[in-house]
Amino acid sequence: MSEKEFPYIDHIYHLQRENRLAIQRTTIKERIQLLKKLENEILLARDAIVDALHKDFRKSKIEAESTELFPVLSEIRLFIKNLKDWSASKSVSNNLVFFGSKAKIVYEPKGNCLIISPWNYPFQLAVVHLVACIAAGNTAIVKPSEFAPATNQVLNSIFGKVFESNHVQLIYGEVEETTYLLSKKFDHIHFTGSPKVGKIVMAAGAKHLASVTLELGGKSPLIIDGTLDIKTVVSKAIWGKLINNGQTCIAPDYLLIKEELKEEFISTFIQHMEKTFGKNPMESPDLARIINLRNFDRIQSLVENAIDGGANCPYGNEYVRSELYIKPTLLTDIPDDAEILFEEIFGPVFPMITYQNIQEITKFINDREKPLALYIYSKNQELIDFIVHNTSSGAVLVNETLLHIMHPNLPFGGVNNSGIGRSTGRFGFEDFSHSKPVLQVNQWFSPTKFINYPYTGFTQKIVNLMMKYL
Ligand code: NAD
Repeated sequence: MSEKEFPYIDHIYHLQRENRLAIQRTTIKERIQLLKKLENEILLARDAIVDALHKDFRKSKIEAESTELFPVLSEIRLFIKNLKDWSASKSVSNNLVFFGSKAKIVYEPKGNCLIISPWNYPFQLAVVHLVACIAAGNTAIVKPSEFAPATNQVLNSIFGKVFESNHVQLIYGEVEETTYLLSKKFDHIHFTGSPKVGKIVMAAGAKHLASVTLELGGKSPLIIDGTLDIKTVVSKAIWGKLINNGQTCIAPDYLLIKEELKEEFISTFIQHMEKTFGKNPMESPDLARIINLRNFDRIQSLVENAIDGGANCPYGNEYVRSELYIKPTLLTDIPDDAEILFEEIFGPVFPMITYQNIQEITKFINDREKPLALYIYSKNQELIDFIVHNTSSGAVLVNETLLHIMHPNLPFGGVNNSGIGRSTGRFGFEDFSHSKPVLQVNQWFSPTKFINYPYTGFTQKIVNLMMKYL
């Protein structure tokens, strides 16, 4: 529990707690209207959002629009199109025990929710889960990361134009404010961030038995078996890693590459980097910066720890601290105990691990925490199926990286250390709803007509039939 009290947090919290039943009763039409208003305000703030993301960590306009604005707009439009259908009660079929009964699932809003988001996609991750939250009929306090202050200001201004405080309110804050918020009773907490803080959030939720969704991170492998054209593989791998400068929860964290491809991969990697970014990638407007010095130092020390232990570095390992710039870096021959093989990198560094047979791949992955994503570049279907069925990860994506997050009909989420629960689209709607079973039993054929006191030989016969046939 936080030592300090925050009266303005108490004020917002009580407003929303008191208002949650009124929000629950809002119609689907009203919620869709609100989503349209949110879409409109986001479009009006397009330039301001892009500028803010550039200010926070020099994100390029194209990445800001395609990875922050577009996913949010597309989620809003998906909800506008499908909310009526998703929120309608769903009838389910009966078995003989409930012959003639009416059985359905009713989607009940969870109530007052807390959404905590990280800094790496500060616009997208603060809004995308809010869409599901309000569409499902909940109130929300949104606590974004303190490390993207310019984006937070724009977010606050958009929320202020669209929502009343007793429905949705952004609350700025660092660990102290978040700890204070987490001490309160919420009906649902949606957290996006590191596994370390995820554990704190889950423990806080347990105090009130709040349901908790955790969207976490981890080390996502990228397997390359050499059955695809190496130039294409290198170019796609570099894009997947360098987008947002490696600060992406589903970035390919390390490469698992067939031993005999090693030298060809290294030379193709260097050629591709020089062709795309020139001799000095720092001059490229396409590369974002590391968010802050803490992360800059952490990444540099991961690389240095590997090199001190004997790793080779055919490309990169250059730093400009004042610019928060780390040159994209390739590491090979990494010692087994190097920290970089265990900690999520979250930066532009590619550790390369070589394998000789498929069992080495699954062993390497299964010896570690379950990743958020697992990538395979291959056209060997046998290898793909083997990996899918012999490893555990939040998702598997074949022949691309990152893109599964944009699929409208697939859930997004991790497994254990990389996350608990499912987000986005219909899965996000269900995550912010209580799927309540409602069963209305047919009085003419009620089970208790057949099984009731006093128990007789006839009752036993009924039970015997049930045991045999139902
Ligand atoms: P973080 O866990 O440090 O912070 C996330 C949020 O928690 C922030 O709002 C922060 O203010 C708050 N917080 C930090 N320490 C806290 C504490 N002790 N008590 C209470 N709240 C606290 O994560 P980050 O550095 O902002 O983001 C990077 C991490 O997020 C990476 O691990 C990344 O993989 C993960 N991530 C996951 C997803 C996903 O969808 N699965 C998306 C983006 C980032």
